[in-house]
Amino acid sequence: MTISQLARSIAESPTLKMNEEARLLRERGESVIHLGIGEPKNKTPFPALLSAAAKLNTGDIKYSPTDGIPTLKKAIVRYTEDNYDRLIAPENIIVSSGAKQSLFNIFYALLDPNDEVIINAPYWVSYPEMVKMVRGIPVIVTPEDGGFYPRLADIKRAVSSSTKAIVINSPNNPSGVMYSEEFMADIVAFCEKRNIYLILDDIYHKLIFGKRKWSPAYKFTDQDVESGKIIVVNGIAKAYGMTGFRIGWCVAPRKLVEVMTNIQGQITSCTALVSQAAAEGALNGLQSVVEALRLSIENNREVMMTELGAFSGVRCTPPDGTFYCLPDFRAYSSNSVELANFLLQKARVVTVPGKDFGMEGYLRLSYAGSVKDVTEGIARIRWALDPNAPSEIYIGDRKLIRDWM
Ligand code: PMP
Repeated sequence: MTISQLARSIAESPTLKMNEEARLLRERGESVIHLGIGEPKNKTPFPALLSAAAKLNTGDIKYSPTDGIPTLKKAIVRYTEDNYDRLIAPENIIVSSGAKQSLFNIFYALLDPNDEVIINAPYWVSYPEMVKMVRGIPVIVTPEDGGFYPRLADIKRAVSSSTKAIVINSPNNPSGVMYSEEFMADIVAFCEKRNIYLILDDIYHKLIFGKRKWSPAYKFTDQDVESGKIIVVNGIAKAYGMTGFRIGWCVAPRKLVEVMTNIQGQITSCTALVSQAAAEGALNGLQSVVEALRLSIENNREVMMTELGAFSGVRCTPPDGTFYCLPDFRAYSSNSVELANFLLQKARVVTVPGKDFGMEGYLRLSYAGSVKDVTEGIARIRWALDPNAPSEIYIGDRKLIRDWM
């Protein structure tokens, strides 16, 4: 079989791989706890279901405009006004199959071969692979202080004449931290000055804890959407827990939207009409569903922090948002892939190796599941690793004794 060099260089999604392994173990009747999960557990919001059902009832499910149906675009215009304080035109929006496709469209539209994109570690696993897919070069910037907050000085050092874009994802997957307003203002000004696109992956902007407040990047510029360097990506997957509908969108200058529409038109023609109707329902419906979801995740986050606090040697920067945290497990192993496999085999807990996010020695843990998942999951990990934890544990109805230390 002949496979292209480029295709061979693209890594498997580690999160999807862990999901698959967990599914196979569960199928064998194993009691697996999934702390790798990247989606909330809530049911689809009712207004989304009603809207999708109404569309289905018409029986008229055909192709839709490549860039999205006008009524969904209208809802996104309003969403942008409410959440970003910017009035945009429908021509500034392209609806796609998840935020993921929006990101791919952007890279495809912007990059020539060997153009560079700056990605801050820890980063979401798909950015570097997507950049590689369009023959660009991902340039990973790791904060020199070893923390999770990017620093402009580090970014400036990585910028070259080939830099086309910088990706910012705040609140951040995998660390859960949200970048400071000062940093955001600086990076916006820097990109404008250097004529570099600033791609903002805002998919977690509604899942923020305590009194913290998220600000859109537009806040830090007087330039309008048309002439500025800001490109925004968002979607319904995380805030509404509607991962399976596969709807995301991009807000960008209309020239760029036109190009992305050509690209998308050649690849998927358009996003599924029923999903677009569902997204419209979610955006136009009662927004208390988002707050209810946020509160339950915030509660899980407190439990996660308490449980990790009892873990000898594990340090964790408290997350400001998302449903992830990225604790440092280097006290136990410097090889996160081996560690994640060990935990799956011994303790039947799914975690995601930090290596895949550019942070070797760390594990990404999700608290998007139930409180029980969090408490039992961390108890099992402690049992497997922490010599101060009890050496016996029940996994399902099996009593296990730790005999490897
Ligand atoms: N960006 C980030 C940072 C994500 O974590 C995810 C989902 N894991 C996405 C984008 C993709 O979102 P969607 O499901 O809408 O494609």
